[in-house]
Amino acid sequence: MTEPIQRQATASEESLIRIFTIPEAPDSTLSIIEQNLSQNLAGFLRNSIVALEKPLWQIERDFQAHQIPEMPEFVSDYAEQLMQKLVAHSVHTASPSFIGHMTSALPYFVLPLSKMMVGLNQNLVKIETSKAFTPMERQVLGMMHHLVYGEADGFYKKWMHSANHSLGAFCSGGTVANITALWIARNRLLKADGEFRGIAREGLFRAMQHYNYQGLAILVSERGHYSLGKAADILGIGRDALIAIKTDANNKIDVTELANTMAELTARNIRVMAVVGVAGTTETGNVDPLHQLADLAEQYQCHFHVDAAWGGATLFSERYRHLLAGIERADSVTIDAHKQMYVPMGAGMVVFKHPSDAHAIAHHAEYILRKGSKDLGSQTLEGSRPGMAMLVHACLQIIGSAGYQILIDRSLEKARYFAKLIMDNSDFELITEPELCILTYRYVPASVQKAMAKANPAQLQRFNELLNGMTKFIQKRQREEGKSFVSRTRLTPAKYQRQETIVFRVVLANPLTTEQILHDVLLEQDHIAQLDKEFYPKLLQLAKKLAA
Ligand SMILES: *Cc1c(COP(=O)(O)O)cnc(C)c1O
Repeated sequence: MTEPIQRQATASEESLIRIFTIPEAPDSTLSIIEQNLSQNLAGFLRNSIVALEKPLWQIERDFQAHQIPEMPEFVSDYAEQLMQKLVAHSVHTASPSFIGHMTSALPYFVLPLSKMMVGLNQNLVKIETSKAFTPMERQVLGMMHHLVYGEADGFYKKWMHSANHSLGAFCSGGTVANITALWIARNRLLKADGEFRGIAREGLFRAMQHYNYQGLAILVSERGHYSLGKAADILGIGRDALIAIKTDANNKIDVTELANTMAELTARNIRVMAVVGVAGTTETGNVDPLHQLADLAEQYQCHFHVDAAWGGATLFSERYRHLLAGIERADSVTIDAHKQMYVPMGAGMVVFKHPSDAHAIAHHAEYILRKGSKDLGSQTLEGSRPGMAMLVHACLQIIGSAGYQILIDRSLEKARYFAKLIMDNSDFELITEPELCILTYRYVPASVQKAMAKANPAQLQRFNELLNGMTKFIQKRQREEGKSFVSRTRLTPAKYQRQETIVFRVVLANPLTTEQILHDVLLEQDHIAQLDKEFYPKLLQLAKKLAA
């Protein structure tokens, strides 16, 4: 660990040229970081992320300067600052007791591979900047297509590397994947026809005039992801035209309500553009009845999209893939590799049942993306894109479908184990059972549960209000303590006459989360509940009053 790169009193050309080559002597802090990342990742994260209690406004103080610093800085000095100001206050998403969100641990090998990917700096927008990476990405999309649709070998031989076709699009995440799918749906519906040159050229207003519709609609359950609202907005259809269909007691779309709404919209000459099924809702992890949605989409001749951004990886499991039955009938399917496939963020995908569907959004330009070229950029929303597909490729090859099956099965079984733990504990209430590996629950002392069973609707309402306050308190305090983390969300369970119910939400995706950790989480929450001086005493009082 010797001399860092020389800082010049003025930024000299010579020293700037030098930052594009590896320095002879390593930067002290930087090389320690690099060593840790490759040799002691878990310890590095555990030991570097330390300043848990610091509130956000205090952290913001470290990021106040609005002027770009004029003078160059030592790499080591900068890295030192970074550790203190940024890394120390980061969120330990890889911790086995961080079970509140979809972001979890990563396999060790993606770190050096990511570094190589950054070093190669390939741009997937066109072949000229991504030879080898383009066919590799097409292969990844082909594999994911096969996972969903399972077409015969000949299908992939014919289409996977075909210049004017695509089996899917690789993008930054589920949001762009969903937008891409609905963009295709819109453009295919409002395609060129006689004099009309198609919506892509003439715009929505003229498309509606030509086709004589009063409007368009996209239908999804009320548990649909907010990215669909963004899609409806930027596609010019409007957020109000994204119609939320109510869900049943299991957080699955109410198919009767969906069918009625489709009939009603059609009668009003509002064209249903797409039906979106959710395969793994973000809040509760439930899957819509996809076959029934496919039937309705067929009946109304509209696009059927499945948002499996989070749940799609379940297809790797022979034991559980039946939960997503019907997904193979979708025109398009979104799957995020950065959720249950353990790839770092920035890895979303949408696959298309029909290899020519992406024609609807194809764009060609002379200097780049020439017709007949294999440039991926002609059929993607994004322009310049990194070679993230390489990390998906790596995980698919290194973990394999058998490996993923084990990981998925373990996650789902861990969720079932935790659900049982909650049900067996008389001071907790399971709110939604895990269909995949998300579940929701809350802390409800046994005496309160007993009183609630006999309460009238008004009393029940009061109990729920107090419980909501306590749930928030516990979740917040638990996060601040920093030992473990669950998220919280708001549901409207049928069991409580659809009253707003705040719940803990747990996503069990980290392979390193043990049963012991789950036991400890309940113990900790029980302990924190006793510290609540506001809602907890009132709850006990109310329960006592009703028992008397
Ligand atoms: C996460 C998620 C998205 C959005 O994906 P991003 O990668 O965050 O853009 C969309 N739909 C569902 C169901 C999701 O879980």
